[in-house]
Amino acid sequence: FLDILKNNYIYSCDFNMITDNYRQKGLRKKLVAELVSKGIKDEMVLEAILKVPRHAFLDKAFEDWSYKDQAFPIDCEQTISQPYTVAFQSSLLKISKGEKVLEIGLGSGYQACVLFEMGAKVYSIERHKYLHDKTAERLKHLGYLGIRTFYGDGFLGLPRFAPFDKILITAACPHLPTALLSQLKPGGLMVLPLETGHGVQTMIRVHKDTNENITKEDFGHFKFVPMLKGTV
Ligand code: SAH
Repeated sequence: FLDILKNNYIYSCDFNMITDNYRQKGLRKKLVAELVSKGIKDEMVLEAILKVPRHAFLDKAFEDWSYKDQAFPIDCEQTISQPYTVAFQSSLLKISKGEKVLEIGLGSGYQACVLFEMGAKVYSIERHKYLHDKTAERLKHLGYLGIRTFYGDGFLGLPRFAPFDKILITAACPHLPTALLSQLKPGGLMVLPLETGHGVQTMIRVHKDTNENITKEDFGHFKFVPMLKGTV
């Protein structure tokens, strides 16, 4: 079924039709309970997930899939990350309100909205022009006017807006991107899925201390679409 979706699924979302009713709110509560049962504890993350209408990031016909704890195909053969993964990465970032956060891989915009609801100042880069423009439009319609989106290559980061308190990469990284590391504030954290060589990634949290020394922690295996160079 998912293969059929990947090949034939044409994303058509009428942004004017987005509603958030009791049923959807109820499904979100259940999703949050599921995330708690899977070990997510960060209250700010759970509250953000309770707020963001994930069904608005998928086609209306797939609404019932929105609150399952699963990744789902979106445009340009990309995916909206699994809610557990969004919650896990968001928790690892230890966000405080007002921090500047750079996301690599805007995709559907769902993760960006979760960070925004946690009080972050969000900057997010996407390398697919079509996906970037469509998501920028979606965020506007949903009222997420404070999220800054950029069409470009995330490997280069956003030197104009650096440094960032936190950096989050939501695509499988072949190596630690040096440009991004240099745009991280001393004392900052960067979370990324690092390629291990078998199509599986290890979740890594990088800490840059005030002397610019780097330490890494390892948080187990995850699966992401690849982080690719250049723009399309
Ligand atoms: N955070 C997204 C997940 C999207 S999947 C969400 O919540 O929906 C990862 C995204 O990273 C894809 O949209 C892909 O196009 C994008 N991506 C991959 N390599 C990139 C790069 N070098 N720069 C910017 N975006 C990139």
